[in-house]
Amino acid sequence: MAKCPKCGTEVAQPTKTWTLAPKGRKPVTVGLFKCPSCGAYFRAAVAK
Ligand SMILES: [Zn+2]
Repeated sequence: MAKCPKCGTEVAQPTKTWTLAPKGRKPVTVGLFKCPSCGAYFRAAVAK
């Protein structure tokens, strides 16, 4: 669940997810979300 930074709509399902794993740090799953309300794409960390 992520919130659109433009209009505040909550988007449940990411269009795409991938894992960022910087060296020496915890891997983070990042999702690409598309807002169904205003059409904006945004990225947000996905909590598992
Ligand atoms: Zn939006």
